[in-house]
Amino acid sequence: MPDIIIAIDGHSSTGKSTLAKRLANALGYVFIDTGAMYRAVTLFAMQQGFLKNNVLDEKKLIAALPDLDLQFLFNPKKALSDMYLNRQNVSDEIRNLAVSQQVSRVATLAEVRKKLVSLQHEMGKQKRIVMDGRDIGTVVFPQAELKIFMTATPEIRAQRRFDEMKSTTPDITFEEVLENVKHRDLIDSTRKESPLRQAPDAVVIDNSNLTKDEQFESVLGMARALIG
Ligand code: C5P
Repeated sequence: MPDIIIAIDGHSSTGKSTLAKRLANALGYVFIDTGAMYRAVTLFAMQQGFLKNNVLDEKKLIAALPDLDLQFLFNPKKALSDMYLNRQNVSDEIRNLAVSQQVSRVATLAEVRKKLVSLQHEMGKQKRIVMDGRDIGTVVFPQAELKIFMTATPEIRAQRRFDEMKSTTPDITFEEVLENVKHRDLIDSTRKESPLRQAPDAVVIDNSNLTKDEQFESVLGMARALIG
């Protein structure tokens, strides 16, 4: 049976991670959420004071990158990996709105991308991974055997994210979430370094009107056809 790499790219809040997790579980593969890595670098910049009051000191962040240690450690209780930043579990903190509002900016920095892509290459050496992000099928693993590109309308994506965030952030409004989704789309697709693009050989899934189960079954079928 051949081992493969599954690359899942697409717009924010299209359910990439949910799909990637289910696929990895079904296939016995490792799930890697590269967005969590960019979020952890953003949190690091905030903790170190390189990013405050909406001002990012790029030079200081770049100079401190060698001190940044990122690890995914499996948490058997959640049956998922937690994100560790310099040995601290930051899985919850990296999802807050402050990090979400700044992450796309940090992700434009070539030096940050270089460091994270090199870690991602390491994680995919043995294949058997489902990796989700923005540049996996185009830059990180252009040779991935299966590439999926997920999209949906900004309003549908914002509604999904809003429903998720309501319990933890009761003050948040739908408009704020929609603004964040559109803002990230714009930065992600217009940045110079590895912009969000659909790989020519990616299968496009617009899930505006698809259930999670429908898309999961469809992509699992594609993966099984390749794995045999
Ligand atoms: O996937 P998630 O929405 O958590 O990613 C957060 C942000 O990290 C994205 O909006 C994007 O700016 C950046 N990102 C990236 N390349 C990746 C994964 C995420 O630029 N491979």
